[in-house]
Amino acid sequence: MVDALKLKIKTLPFGTHAVECHLDESFFNDMEQTEVRRADVDVTVNVTRKSETTYRLEIACHGSVTVPCDRCLDDLDLPVDEEYRLNVEQTGNELDDSNDELLVVPSEWRELDTAPLVRDTVLLAIPMTHCHDSEDDCNADMLDMLESHRVETVHDDDDQPQSETTGTDPRWEALKKLREQ
Ligand SMILES: [Zn+2]
Repeated sequence: MVDALKLKIKTLPFGTHAVECHLDESFFNDMEQTEVRRADVDVTVNVTRKSETTYRLEIACHGSVTVPCDRCLDDLDLPVDEEYRLNVEQTGNELDDSNDELLVVPSEWRELDTAPLVRDTVLLAIPMTHCHDSEDDCNADMLDMLESHRVETVHDDDDQPQSETTGTDPRWEALKKLREQ
């Protein structure tokens, strides 16, 4: 956990305050496992207290993350250059994070942990599908291995409607085999 990202909102003076920290891969994988293998991200959170109960957050994340390529599973470095701005209002007893632009937090909260917001902001930098620019940039050995395993799998599963029921992604099986060699 990153203590710097826990804002003491109740006692925060009016005006703008900057919080800075550096994140590595443990920040992304501590709470729940993600695809992030390595991370090197500088974060700045500018928090402005506008009134007793309203705040403005400006989150800026710059750096890079390493995730597996969808095609060859080898390391793929992605730049992180993301910003997220939102208003926070402290009122009532319930947390309401259903609105992207306005976060409502219970009035009794003394602290607001911005870690989940920072985490989501960085993960925005990872597109739904992410591959090396072209197949030539992929790990050729890995592609060969994956291809041969795919053929095997298709053959093995001739009688079955879908291999999904086995619960194991054939690509990870192939990766495991490759690492054991
Ligand atoms: Zn690749």
